Amino acid sequence: MSARAIPYRPHNHDACVSQALTDARAICQQQNARLTPIRERVLELIWQSHRPLGAYDVLSELSSDGHNAAPPTVYRALDFLQQHGLVHRIASLNAFIGCTHAGENHTGMFLICRACSNVLELTATAVSTEIRKAASGVGFQAENTTLEVSGLCPRCQAEPDDG
Ligand SMILES: [Zn+2]
Ligand SMILES: [Zn+2]
Ligand SMILES: [Zn+2]
Repeated sequence: MSARAIPYRPHNHDACVSQALTDARAICQQQNARLTPIRERVLELIWQSHRPLGAYDVLSELSSDGHNAAPPTVYRALDFLQQHGLVHRIASLNAFIGCTHAGENHTGMFLICRACSNVLELTATAVSTEIRKAASGVGFQAENTTLEVSGLCPRCQAEPDDG
């Protein structure tokens, strides 16, 4: 899958969205999974920015679309998208973000700006290898590693304090 824009810089976000949808269709086809219109719409809503979106935000966007979606529909769509590696759940924010490495075997390391909630996903293979080693040192078999790092993005660091 192609490299994407760094969300901290101004970029053509429509390109991010269409790339994500193209990737999602290809991945679902490979996995023989059905990307129904509602699932695709939920994915598109999550991709509307580089800030994570909560399930209830997705729901209210859907109803302003004219979709009569009930919460279970949204949760099922989110489950589907997570299972197929198209979105990640950011536990600390209880919200979802589009995966920028969909279709690749990867460990998500999320840099979460505490000021603007922008999330950047980095792959951190070396980090997850170390974690696996440390875990197996105590006899634990690590399966999934998700790291959430909070801090300030370059834009928010540049904001003057007395702004
Ligand atoms: Zn973008
Ligand atoms: Zn990812
Ligand atoms: Zn920020």
